[in-house]
Amino acid sequence: MEFSSSPEQERIREAIAKLCERFGDDYWLARDRGGGFPADFHQAFARDGWLGIAMPEAYGGAGLGISEAAVMMQTIAESGAGFSGASAVHMNIFGLNPVVVFGNEEQKARMLPPLIQGKQRACFAVTEPNTGLNTRNLKTKAEKRDGKYFISGQKVWISTAQVAEKVLLLARASAGLTLFYTDLDRKHVEVREIEKMGRHAVDSNQVFFDGLPVPEADRIGEEGKGFEYILHGMNPERILIAAELVGLGRCAVGRAAAYAKQRIVFDRPIGQNQAIQHPLAANWMALEAANLMVHKAAWLYDCAKPCGAEANAAKYLAGEACFDACQQAVMTHGGYGYAAEYHVERYLREALLGRIAPITPQLILCYIAERVLGLPKSY
Ligand SMILES: Cc1cc2nc3c(=O)[nH]c(=O)nc-3n(C[C@H](O)[C@H](O)[C@H](O)COP(=O)(O)OP(=O)(O)OC[C@H]3O[C@@H](n4cnc5c(N)ncnc54)[C@H](O)[C@@H]3O)c2cc1C
Repeated sequence: MEFSSSPEQERIREAIAKLCERFGDDYWLARDRGGGFPADFHQAFARDGWLGIAMPEAYGGAGLGISEAAVMMQTIAESGAGFSGASAVHMNIFGLNPVVVFGNEEQKARMLPPLIQGKQRACFAVTEPNTGLNTRNLKTKAEKRDGKYFISGQKVWISTAQVAEKVLLLARASAGLTLFYTDLDRKHVEVREIEKMGRHAVDSNQVFFDGLPVPEADRIGEEGKGFEYILHGMNPERILIAAELVGLGRCAVGRAAAYAKQRIVFDRPIGQNQAIQHPLAANWMALEAANLMVHKAAWLYDCAKPCGAEANAAKYLAGEACFDACQQAVMTHGGYGYAAEYHVERYLREALLGRIAPITPQLILCYIAERVLGLPKSY
């Protein structure tokens, strides 16, 4: 068993931390207040070649594993950028994995380089308003006529659709759920932003498709196999989100500990009280334990071994640990924890998102109960 980071992973952590120093607390506070995609942050990552960290070298990527991508995403979140920063580049890191694995050569050469170079942005459109987590029941239609598909239907919660030129889209064709990667052509698509609780820098939207024409060349793999293709990418997606959650939780604990050292009440630092120390110590332990599961899951994935239980467990444990840590960071600050300029209330709002998406704690518990413990399916 090996628990230390590789020299390459250390190098990634250092380089990303340095890059993130240019985007400090005030930058993210302003983004949270005013909204607006952090395009300069996204471009800085593109310029230094980070967006293709887990994409094949043949198309301009670095060809590294999910273990390395997890280090990168964790470092972004831990810098104080949280989910505002991580979500701004997340789709570039692994979102096009279905194209890498199931796309043909022409598609890979056409679709991957612009995303890796930061010249295009893509969103990922799966969730629908009347389907929820029951993805197999998706209703958005892909009707085939004269060698083209025409997409009609509604998606919800689609992040970055305000700024994306491309969409990775799951829709129902005659043979079943089918995956497309195509232009988000505003002539046939209406994108309406959802007012939401946190992560205001990265928009989330209702998206209405009204006969969006999609050339057959933009269909990924076979008709009817789209859900299978998406499932393939779900474990790495969960591992990356879990790594981001650990990063955000660490950031919150670090900020709370720093405040507890310098805030003097009753003539001594509040951090001298065990009631302040102990919850933060417990938060640290929960985050580091979750992180071990993140790296185990990433290692299994990179070794091409089954990792469903570990990827789900990592997402669950990191989600709960991050939320607890962010809440404790607010409480440690007392009234100031509620003030935007101390940043921790922003972390708490972002932590909730990482618990809900892309999969909820309840559904992860269902997965572990059914697939690991062999209990009957409950739904
Ligand atoms: C800010 C944000 C950004 C997002 N970005 C994207 C995106 O870019 N692309 C995209 O496709 N989606 C995105 N999502 C959607 C997200 O993945 C879903 O919200 C999430 O998967 C939950 O689905 P739902 O909201 O439909 O919940 P529902 O399925 O309606 O579930 C509601 C509640 O019921 C529980 N529940 C449902 N069924 C069961 C059961 N059988 N047993 C126990 N509990 C159950 C759930 O756990 C949950 O607590 C985003 C969501 C948010 C909030």
